[in-house]
Amino acid sequence: TERPPLLDDEDGGILLYSASSSSSGYGYVSIEKQRQRLPVFKYRTAILYLVETHATTIVVGETGSGKTTQIPQFLKEAGWADGGRVIACTQPRRLAVQAVASRVAEEMGVKLGEEVGYTIRFEDLTDRDSTRIKFLTDGVLLREMMEDPLLTKYSVIMVDEAHERSISTDVLLGLLKKIQRRRPELRLIISSATIEAKSMAAFFHTSKKRRGLGGEDCVPKTEPAILSVEGRGFNVQIFYVEEPVSDYIQAAVSTVMSIHDQEPMGDILVFLTGQDDIDAAVRLLTEEAQSNRKSSSGLVVLPLYSGLSRADQDLVFSPIPRGKRKVVIATNIAETSLTLEGVSYVVDSGFSKQRFYNPISDIENLVVAPISKASARQRAGRAGRVRPGKCYRLYSEEYFVKEMSAEGIPEMQRSNLVSCVIQLKALGIDNILGFDWPASPSPEAMIRALEVLYSLGVLDDDAKLTSPAGFQVAEIPLDPMVSKMILASNQLGCSEEIITIAAILSIQSIWVSVRGQQKDLDEAKLRFAAAEGDHVTFLNVYKGFLQSGKSPKWCNKNFVNYQAMRKVLEIREQLKRIAQRIGIVLKSCESDMQAVRKAVTAGFFANACNLEAFSHNGMYKTIRSTQEVYIHPSSVLFRVNPKWVIYHSLVSTDRQYMRNVISIDPSWLIEAAPHFYQHHQPNSIPH
Ligand code: ADP
Ligand code: MG
Repeated sequence: TERPPLLDDEDGGILLYSASSSSSGYGYVSIEKQRQRLPVFKYRTAILYLVETHATTIVVGETGSGKTTQIPQFLKEAGWADGGRVIACTQPRRLAVQAVASRVAEEMGVKLGEEVGYTIRFEDLTDRDSTRIKFLTDGVLLREMMEDPLLTKYSVIMVDEAHERSISTDVLLGLLKKIQRRRPELRLIISSATIEAKSMAAFFHTSKKRRGLGGEDCVPKTEPAILSVEGRGFNVQIFYVEEPVSDYIQAAVSTVMSIHDQEPMGDILVFLTGQDDIDAAVRLLTEEAQSNRKSSSGLVVLPLYSGLSRADQDLVFSPIPRGKRKVVIATNIAETSLTLEGVSYVVDSGFSKQRFYNPISDIENLVVAPISKASARQRAGRAGRVRPGKCYRLYSEEYFVKEMSAEGIPEMQRSNLVSCVIQLKALGIDNILGFDWPASPSPEAMIRALEVLYSLGVLDDDAKLTSPAGFQVAEIPLDPMVSKMILASNQLGCSEEIITIAAILSIQSIWVSVRGQQKDLDEAKLRFAAAEGDHVTFLNVYKGFLQSGKSPKWCNKNFVNYQAMRKVLEIREQLKRIAQRIGIVLKSCESDMQAVRKAVTAGFFANACNLEAFSHNGMYKTIRSTQEVYIHPSSVLFRVNPKWVIYHSLVSTDRQYMRNVISIDPSWLIEAAPHFYQHHQPNSIPH
C-alpha cells in the first residue's frame, strides 16, 4: 500500500499512524480527520448549547464514539477554560486516566502535563498555571474537595463512565449535586455508555430554587438535559459454547488459535479477569506460537490490566508490523473505558473480578464473578467498531438468557464503606445515613463502617472526626486502616518502616509474576522471608534493593519487579512528605520488629484471626465473625501457620485466602482496640 502524502497545514500538521490500520496495512490519517469522523463530532454544537443552558447534561453514547477525548476539547474550544478556569474529566480507573490524557494531549499537539494533564493518586502530571483540561480519577477529585470544598477552579466537571457506578463516582455525584446549589455557574456533564439516563436525570432534578448570582438569565435550567449520541457500531455476530467450559483460560486460548487459523485479519480482544489469568493466557499463547510456528507465528500477544508499566500500556495502543494480528488480553478495563481500534473479534470469558462485602461477617474480598448481560453486550460491541465483527462467548446461550443478571450491582452496595464514610465526615457531611446517594448503601454496612472508625479512634461518641487523629487519618490518601497504622508508628518509633510497608501494600505486587517458574520465585522469596510474616519480608526486600544500589540486575536475580520497586520509592517519598506535614516524626526502629507488628495491629486489628486448635489443614477463624480463612500460598507464612495472625486483604477462590499476613500477640489486640474486642468476644482472647 502507498502512503498518502504528508498532510497539509489545514489538518494541523499532526500526523498519526492510525491504529485501525494496524492489521490491514500502513496508512496515515490526520488526527483532525479522525476526530471529525467520530460520532460526537456531529453533536458538537448541540452539546455546547446544552452545557451553556443546563446545569447538568447527561450524554449517553456507545464506547468509542468520542465522549471522553472530544467533549473536553469542545469545551475548551468554546471558552470554558478561559480566565484560568479548568475543565475536569473524571474516570473510575487510573489506567484510563493516563491513556485518555495522553491521547488528548497528542490530539491537541501539546506536551502532556502542560495544557492537558492528569492526576491519579501518587502521580500528578499537571501544571498549576497552564493546565486547562485535567483528567483525574473520581477518587482524586473527592480528595481535592478537602482543600477546596466547592471545587472553585473548575468550570465544567465531566463525570465520565458513570454507568460503572464505582463507589467514588456515586459519592462524587451526591456531593456535586450539593455543590451545584452553591455554584450555579458550575456545569456538570455526566457521560456513560449505557446509563439509565432517566434515573440519573431524576437524581439531578431538584425542584429547589437556586440562588443565582447574576440576573435570572444567567441561571441555567435545573432540569438535566439528556443527549444521546448515535453511534455507528457494526453488526456483531454472537457465538456461544454448547457446553459450559471448565477452564476459561484454556478455552480462551483455543478460541484465539482457531480464530487465527480460520478467520480473516482483524485484531482479537480477550476478556479475562485479572493479572494472574491474563499472564497465564499470554504465556500459553506465546508457547503455542513457539511450538506451532506456522499457524501462530503472526500473533502479537499483549496484556492489558492496571498495574502495567507505562511502556507496556503504550504497546497495546501502538501499531504492530503489517501482516501480524494483535491479540490483547484484558480485564474489563477494555469494556468501556478504553477503545482499541482494529478489533474485529472478541472472546468473552463471562467473568470479571468484583469486590464483594458482607456486612454481617464484615468481610470484603475480590471474587471472580459472572458479569451482567449489560457487560456482555458492551464486550461484544467492541468487535464492531470498524467493521462487522464476531464475539465468542465462553458460556452457553441458555446461561446468558436465563441466568445472567440484567445489570451489575453498584459498587456502593457491595463494598466496605470505611473509606467512603471518613471522606464524607472530613467534608463535614455529618448525617451520612441521610446523604443523598444515587444508590443507598445498606444500613448494616454503614453501621459496620462507623463501628470500625470508632474503634480506630477516628470518630468520637458523636460520630464526629476526632482531633487530631481523625483529621490526620483523613489527610492520608490511603485506606483508613493503613493511615491509622502510620499514625500508630509515630508513637511506636517505627514510622520509616511502616511507611515503606504502606507504600509496598499500595501497589499490586513487588514480585515478578511467573507462571511455570513458581518454584524459582518461592526460592527467591525464601531469601527474604521473615518469621514474623509478609510485612517484615517486604522490609527485607526493600533493604536489599537499597543495598544493591537500586539495581535492576539485583531485582532480576531475585524475582523482584524493578518497575514496582521504582514506584514504591516514589510513593514512599510522597507518603513521607504527607506524614511530616501532619506531624509524624520519621524514625527507624532498626531491628525492633515488635514495634512494626504492633503498628500493623493498631490499624488492622479488625482483621485478626486465630488458628483453629485442632486444624491440620491450616484453618483459621476470624475473631470478629468466626469465618473460615486460610493463609494464601503466596504468603511466607503459608504452612508456617502461627497461632494468631492479622491479614491485609482477602481473596476468594475455592476458599477465603488471607494475603499479606503477619503474626501477632493477641494481647496487642485489646491494647489496640479495647472497645472493639471486649465488646465482641469477651472470652476468646487471652488477656
Ligand atoms: P468514548 O469515550 O466515547 O468511549 P473515546 O473518546 O475514548 O470514546 O475514543 C474516541 C476514539 O478515539 C476511539 O474510537 C479511538 O479511535 C480514538 N482513541 C482514543 N484513545 C486512543 C489512543 N490511546 N490511541 C489511539 N486512538 C485512540
Ligand atoms: Mg470514554
